[in-house]
Amino acid sequence: MPELHQARMKFKSKRCEERMLLLHPVLIMIFSDLFWFARMRYNKDIIVTDTVSTASEDAALGRVSDSHQRGLCLDWSVRNFETHEVLDLVNYINNKPEYQRYKYLSNSGVKRIAYFHDNGNGPHVHMGINKKLQNNIIDVNNL
Ligand SMILES: [Zn+2]
Repeated sequence: MPELHQARMKFKSKRCEERMLLLHPVLIMIFSDLFWFARMRYNKDIIVTDTVSTASEDAALGRVSDSHQRGLCLDWSVRNFETHEVLDLVNYINNKPEYQRYKYLSNSGVKRIAYFHDNGNGPHVHMGINKKLQNNIIDVNNL
């Protein structure tokens, strides 16, 4: 049994932590599920590397989608996991029946929530939900 009282969400930066609760509640719920799954199965904490971003932050990263600006996705680091563990976590979320309705459609035509990739900013898992859930850009400088 893992030490539950020691489990905590970890963040790459203060900025990313401060914006965690600006994310869509459905995404926070799904992430919480995954966080506890990783804790229970591997006794490891997921480290969140990005949550809500601004247009200029996205431009600096070369992002093509504005879904981080809408609070519809987050990224987490795979550094403290083995590849097979990452794939297990990704499959756990993508295959869960309760979450099928929240999947987003990728540019390549795949419906999913979790995606393990490297878009040039280092390997990480991107987790997103469907755009229909939130149309507005979140103005992080005006809350
Ligand atoms: Zn992302």
